[in-house]
Amino acid sequence: MHVAIIGAGYVGLTTSACLAELGHDVTCVDIDSNRVSLLRDGIVPIHEPGLEELIQTNGAKGRLHFTSDLEAAATAAEIVLLAVGTPKGAGGEADLSQVRAAARAVAKAMRPDTVIAIKSTVEAGTARLMRELIAEVRGALDFRVASNPEFLREGSAVADFMKPDRIVIGADDQDAGARLVELYRPLTKRGVPVVLTGTVNAELIKYAANAFLALKIGYINDVADLCEEIGGDITAVSRGIGLDPRIGSSFLAPGPGYGDSCFPKDTEAFASIARRYAAPQPLIETLIGRNQERKRRLAARILGELEGPPSKARVALFGLAFKADTDDTRESAALTIAPILSQNGVAVATYDPMARAMMKGVAQHESPYAAAEGADVVAILTEWPEFAGLDLKRLAQTMRGKVILDCRNLLDPQRVSKHGLRCVSLGRAQTPRKATYLHAPPKTGKRAGPAAAAPNQV
Ligand code: NAD
Repeated sequence: MHVAIIGAGYVGLTTSACLAELGHDVTCVDIDSNRVSLLRDGIVPIHEPGLEELIQTNGAKGRLHFTSDLEAAATAAEIVLLAVGTPKGAGGEADLSQVRAAARAVAKAMRPDTVIAIKSTVEAGTARLMRELIAEVRGALDFRVASNPEFLREGSAVADFMKPDRIVIGADDQDAGARLVELYRPLTKRGVPVVLTGTVNAELIKYAANAFLALKIGYINDVADLCEEIGGDITAVSRGIGLDPRIGSSFLAPGPGYGDSCFPKDTEAFASIARRYAAPQPLIETLIGRNQERKRRLAARILGELEGPPSKARVALFGLAFKADTDDTRESAALTIAPILSQNGVAVATYDPMARAMMKGVAQHESPYAAAEGADVVAILTEWPEFAGLDLKRLAQTMRGKVILDCRNLLDPQRVSKHGLRCVSLGRAQTPRKATYLHAPPKTGKRAGPAAAAPNQV
């Protein structure tokens, strides 16, 4: 099939490369001409395992093209997939301006009978709204609008696309649904289930699924806090919970709170729609606040681990990406924590194997040891495998202080302590901080030390 994909970001590029790999003739369009030039030269502007190879092989076979000429791409396509951004709007709702602009441009150029499917994450009712908008531009109803939400995860996007748990297709008429089912035939032939439903349901599935996953993360973080206070170990608790197939073991690791290009904005958009329709989602509303607060509390915890005044302290943050195997820093923990530390006068250094982020006054280094030079505290924020294999002896010699705040529980605290360092992990009873705890144990019922010690610093 001839397919045009509008948007060459994480979703658009992965979808383009994978659909070409499945045998379709794909043209991927982006408004950003620099991006298109890079892609035409075989340079992939994002880090996504396996993507570059797919783009190069399918480009060489003549099945994958890149262009800024949306009109030409839309005219040649039987199916147009919209994969543009839907960032957070001013009131928490999804900002649909990119979707509207792309739909308008497609409407002017496409041939009759085209199916336009929205792959971007949009609120329920958007496909119907786009149908009205396109009909207005064309002055005719000779097309179909459908919904085809995407569930890939950055870091494993190609594998997720090629082996999805399910394909969700929302269509309000049979023909549009049948043509999208045809598009995915190479995958459904391998047994991938299809949920074929109406557009509103498909749109709701995406938000409700993301909100549920985010809830799992928020929940386990709250349980991890309790483990710390009560002397439990979240690793054992998570395993014990996750082996129950009704719960499942994924998304049950404690961490610095969810970040990424999806969960923060999608939970807010979901809550915002629910408020608008007077069907509030209090669980999600609470989760959103808890998640933001968690990152600020970790910043306070780092400040609380400093022996001297923040203005004389150095902190190294390991990991800028919101998770391992991606260069995406959108809503990552580092982006909240580094500015709070800087505002408190701390000299902040960072290292990430892949991601870069410009932050005022924050130095980025090419190795973890360079970032940790003279640091009082090292905080591991992203679960890059490289951090699990740190040379602790070298790290101990490089640092001035002794504290590693392991927000991903990558390190074995006992192994760390053999090098004279103290590992503070999440959701485990903590190794006491010498002088402070020996002479002034924390009061029962209060969070031990750092988070409670410096609440007004964030
Ligand atoms: P992105 O910001 O990486 O990419 C969007 C691309 O669209 C950009 O390159 C931009 O230049 C381009 N664009 C914007 N307007 C355009 C137009 N009129 N014509 C042509 N190109 C245009 O976004 P993303 O991460 O790929 O996400 C896209 C959508 O998919 C969002 O709605 C997101 O919520 C959803 N989604 C993302 C993920 C993910 O992991 N990133 C997963 C599932 C769903």
